[in-house]
Amino acid sequence: MGQADCIFCRIAAGEVNANVVHTDDDTVAFRDINPQASTHVLVIPRRHIPSVNAIEDADAELVGKLYRVAAAIAREDGVATSGYRLVMNNGPDAGQSVDHIHLHVLGGRSLAWPPG
Ligand code: 5GP
Ligand code: ZN
Repeated sequence: MGQADCIFCRIAAGEVNANVVHTDDDTVAFRDINPQASTHVLVIPRRHIPSVNAIEDADAELVGKLYRVAAAIAREDGVATSGYRLVMNNGPDAGQSVDHIHLHVLGGRSLAWPPG
């Protein structure tokens, strides 16, 4: 049971539409509504974890799975070799705007470093 006021819990529950590219028992991945690159997918745990700060030892396997799903999506989108960036913003200075952890998968163009 997700948090009723959390948009990503609602997407995971199928209550809000999204362009879903992957689901399993633990994770859901969908295309970002405001893409910043030709591949811009968000990988989330089904379980509501509000931020990186709130990740606990018991979540280690779940968080690891987010990366495995991200790598599979990069392969499916054809950017695994050209390259891609995985980002998880935490807190105001990083611009976190949804309080349910999400791993951004960005690829399909050259990405500037350092980020802005
Ligand atoms: P953050 O800024 O928290 O790191 O990333 C949140 C991301 O979620 C943003 O890139 C934003 O475009 C995306 N987003 C916010 N609401 C929705 C939504 O309802 N559907 C989808 N697909 N993406 C969303
Ligand atoms: Zn949530």
